[in-house]
Amino acid sequence: MSDRSMLVLSAHPGDFVWRCGGAIAVAVARGDRVVIGCMSFGERGESASLWLKGYDLDQVKAHRRDEAERAAAALGAEIRFYDRGDYPLVETPELTHELVTLFRELQPAVVLTHAPRDPYNPDHATAHTIAMRARVYAQAPGVQAPGDVIGAPPVFCFEPHQPEQCGFMPDVLLDVTEGWERKLAAMEVMGAQSHLVTYYTELGRRRGTQAARNSGPNLGLPHDVVAEAYQRVFPQVTKELA
Ligand SMILES: [Zn+2]
Repeated sequence: MSDRSMLVLSAHPGDFVWRCGGAIAVAVARGDRVVIGCMSFGERGESASLWLKGYDLDQVKAHRRDEAERAAAALGAEIRFYDRGDYPLVETPELTHELVTLFRELQPAVVLTHAPRDPYNPDHATAHTIAMRARVYAQAPGVQAPGDVIGAPPVFCFEPHQPEQCGFMPDVLLDVTEGWERKLAAMEVMGAQSHLVTYYTELGRRRGTQAARNSGPNLGLPHDVVAEAYQRVFPQVTKELA
């Protein structure tokens, strides 16, 4: 077990599975602690199959909560629910404060969240704004919340469902081959959105091909690598360029 931790801030339960389940599984395999902050249950916007079955709101939320808990367990991560509702997810001072508290408790080495734009689901952009604001506030000694102020953990935006329309330009391709079995297991838990398993399996292979293409002979990635794409918010800080 390392003393490093990763914080994943997800608008809905599916997002942390489809978009960054591999990164979570790889971090867990390395011995890092991973905590997922799930802002809503995606009960209105991402649970169509349950509404079509005749579930009511409470049943939909309970079902999505159960799926999210089982998916997080499959990935080896902890999960905390904030139950702020979706369509719309709304930024409130109370939610920001709770997330500042989470940042300070966890002291994450890295943060994963949504990209800043998504015309298909405005909750994703809102979740990005909330996550970024909570991170900045958690850095400020003048902001009153439990725990010590945090440093400057890098933020990686995970890949939206239709990246081009979101202006998403990957600048990191993460080899998640080692975590792929766990990601597959987590995806298979998401019964309310089971149509997406094939899509995200194919995307992982495509991003893996791109990772191998971009890695050069020095890294020597095998050609059957599976990958996830990310976009950094802040500059990479390093003493070596390669
Ligand atoms: Zn979502």
